[in-house]
Amino acid sequence: MTSANPPVPPAGLTLANLTLNKEGTYFTLVLVISILFWIAIAVSIIGLFYAAFFAFFLWLGNGLLVAHLRSEAVRVDERQLPQLHASFREVCQQLGVAQPPALYVLQAGGLLNAFAVRFSGRNFVVVYSDFLEALGADSSEMKFILGHELGHIKSRHILKHIFLGPGLFFPLIGPAYRRVWESSCDRYGAFAAQDVDGSVRAMMTLCGGREHGPKLNAESFAGQHAEERGFFVSLHELTSTYPTLSRRVTDLLSLKTGARVAGPDRNPLAYVLAAFIPGGNLGGSGGGVASAMIMVVIIGLMAAMAIPAFQKVRQSAQQKACMNNERMLAAAFDQYQLENDHAPKSLQELIGPKKYIHTAPVCPLGGHYEIPAGATSGEEIACSSHGTMADMLQAAQHPRR
Ligand SMILES: [Zn+2]
Ligand SMILES: [Zn+2]
Repeated sequence: MTSANPPVPPAGLTLANLTLNKEGTYFTLVLVISILFWIAIAVSIIGLFYAAFFAFFLWLGNGLLVAHLRSEAVRVDERQLPQLHASFREVCQQLGVAQPPALYVLQAGGLLNAFAVRFSGRNFVVVYSDFLEALGADSSEMKFILGHELGHIKSRHILKHIFLGPGLFFPLIGPAYRRVWESSCDRYGAFAAQDVDGSVRAMMTLCGGREHGPKLNAESFAGQHAEERGFFVSLHELTSTYPTLSRRVTDLLSLKTGARVAGPDRNPLAYVLAAFIPGGNLGGSGGGVASAMIMVVIIGLMAAMAIPAFQKVRQSAQQKACMNNERMLAAAFDQYQLENDHAPKSLQELIGPKKYIHTAPVCPLGGHYEIPAGATSGEEIACSSHGTMADMLQAAQHPRR
C-alpha cells in the first residue's frame, strides 16, 4: 500500500507529549475509587479471601492465553516474518522502547485486530494474521498499529487494568479513562508511523474492511462524528471504552495541521443514564476478555459480601422468632407448675383451647418443641432445630464462623 504523496508526519507530536494530559487526571480519579474499593475488600476478611480466589483465576486465564500465544501463534523474529520484525524494531526505536516485547502473529478467523498482553512481568504484542495481510508488513499502517500497542505497554495500561479494575468499572469515569488511553495510544501510533495518512488508512481498514476500507473517504467518515449527536450516540460514547471510530479518525486527521478538535456536545440526558451503566466493554473489541473477567470478579465479590450478610440477617430473625416461641412456652410451663404443683409431662397439657396457649407455636425452621423428661423449669423446653433458649444465646455470642 503506497501513496503517491510523501508521508505527512503528525504535527506537534513529540515523544514527551504523546500521552494526553487528561490521562493523568483520570488516573488520579480512578485510583482513588479503586483504593476505596480495595480498602472495603480488605476490611471485610471474607472479601479478601474472594479477591485472592478471583485473582488466582485471573492469573490462570492470563497464563493460558500467553501459553496459547507461545505455542500456537507465530513468533516474529529475524528469520520469521523478517519484514514485520524490521517494522517492529523501527517502531520500538522511534518510541524509545529499549527492550522490545515479543511480537506474535495469530490466526483469528478473519478478525482485524491487534492487542497487547502482560504475564509474569513480560509484555507481548499480538497482531491477527488477517490484519497483517490487510495492512502489509512494512507499511505505515502496520507501524501505526504496532505503535498503538506499544503505547499501551509504555503507559503500563495492562498493569493498570488489573489494579484499577474497580475504578475502571465505575460509571462515566472508568470508560472515560479507557477512552483517553486509546486516544493517547493513537498518538503513539501516528508518531511511530510518522505518516498521518497511513495511520488514517489503518483506522479506515478497521471501519470498512481490508477491501474497501483504505479507499473510503476518511474526511466524510470523520464528519459522522460531528453530525450524529443524538441521545443514543451520546449514550454509546459515554458507556464505550473506546472512542468511536469516527472520533478516532477525526483526531488522527487533526494531526495533519496540529489544530485541536474540541469534543462536540453530548445529549445531557445521556450523562444521567450513563451514570447508572458500569464501565463494561460495550463499544470495543480489544481487552474485552480482560474487562469481562474483571466484571465477573467484581460481581462475584459483591455477591460474596452480600450473601453471607443476608444469610446472617435471616438466620438471626428465625432464631429470634423461635426464641419468642420458647419464651411463651416457658411462661406457660411455669404457670402450669404453679397451678398444678407438678411439671407438665408434655406440651399437649399446655396447648389447646381453654389451655395456656391456644394454638401451637411454629418454628420458622420447622423444628418441633419438646419438654425433656424430668424437666423442672420452662427454660428447659427445646426446639429440635434451635435447642433451648440458652443454646441460642450462646450461639449468638459465639457464631460458628
Ligand atoms: Zn488500544
Ligand atoms: Zn426453632
